Amino acid sequence: MKEKSREEQRSGFFGDFGGRIVPEDLASALEELKEGFEEIKDNKEFRDELAILFKDYVGKPSPLYFAKNLTKEVGGAKIYLKREDLNHTGAHKINNCIGQALLARKMGKKRIIAETGAGQHGVATATACALFDMDCEIFMGEVDTKRQELNVFRMELLGANVNAVSAGDGTLKDAVDEALKDFVTNVDTTFYMLGSAVGPDPYPTMVKEFQSIIGKEARMQILEKENKLPDYIVACVGGGSNAIGLFAPFVDDKEVNILGIEPGGKGDKPGQNAAPLTFGKPGELHGFKSYVLYDENDEISHTHSIAAGLDYPGVGPEHGYLKDSGRAKYTTASDQEALDAFHLLSEKEGIIPALESAHAVAGGMKIAKDLNEDQIVIINLSGRGDKEM
Ligand SMILES: *Cc1c(COP(=O)(O)O)cnc(C)c1O
Repeated sequence: MKEKSREEQRSGFFGDFGGRIVPEDLASALEELKEGFEEIKDNKEFRDELAILFKDYVGKPSPLYFAKNLTKEVGGAKIYLKREDLNHTGAHKINNCIGQALLARKMGKKRIIAETGAGQHGVATATACALFDMDCEIFMGEVDTKRQELNVFRMELLGANVNAVSAGDGTLKDAVDEALKDFVTNVDTTFYMLGSAVGPDPYPTMVKEFQSIIGKEARMQILEKENKLPDYIVACVGGGSNAIGLFAPFVDDKEVNILGIEPGGKGDKPGQNAAPLTFGKPGELHGFKSYVLYDENDEISHTHSIAAGLDYPGVGPEHGYLKDSGRAKYTTASDQEALDAFHLLSEKEGIIPALESAHAVAGGMKIAKDLNEDQIVIINLSGRGDKEM
């Protein structure tokens, strides 16, 4: 008995990170969610339905594209781009939303809530809710609703109700606080569709499961094209969902180097970046343990990134574990490096990336440069750049 309860407590942990640090009401809702997820995860009917939606609605598999011009420009390893930007709604976030919407339906929940920063997860959530005929409440910082007006319009067009959150800075962290509050109040009827591999257990595990389609496809595609595994796989890290989705299916392939790129912003001082794995320390945020950014007064730091989707002071717990265990490395790309990569990819390949993804391109190019032409780097292009115009 004792053994079991200890194991239960450890479930949802990645080394010292993760867990479920929440009030009791919320803990029981999360336990219900976890049971629901465990039940359907390997269920054939669920798997088949998800596979059909991925294929016919999202447009999977997304191509693995050999970026010949960029490779030539950089002058090192072969660079491949995993084209998640070609998914329906223009980013990887839809993978997770379709998975969670199927789960919500299975659990009999018809009211969906979600937080959003730049609006990408809000749009993906509103899309899934339209598809499954569910009520959709989006929480978005007031500042963000003004910065990202087009996405607010898209969400409303899809039938969602957008709640502008004026508390705090009026950005993503405040939107998460508000969504969690709503969830506690309406827990019987409501499903909280979290948008990244963060939050209390079971979200990091569940989001990884739905996003790992990225790495599964990339692994098969590169074996087909090159008959070997890549030397490096690279992704940008905000909350860390597109990164863990690419990384997870390669973690046991010891010869594959794993590299996450955090937003280095304008510098290494508190408030100038959003790179907790690089500049933060272990701490607690939004119900889980991970690396967190703190300011001079040991308060959770304000953050900055040119890419709104990376602008968060915490990071998915599994990335903390991958960093500490040495299995993955994490570095930064600055605002300027991301902008340079954004322009270069647009001009050389005719592909306009999201600014988030441009961080991965910048980091991937740096690595590729020092490798030889027989080596392979796969960069996850997590989203398209239309929203940056
Ligand atoms: C939201 C977003 C990200 C950051 O989120 P992760 O959970 O770290 O993947 C990255 N790229 C794009 C295009 C996004 O929309």
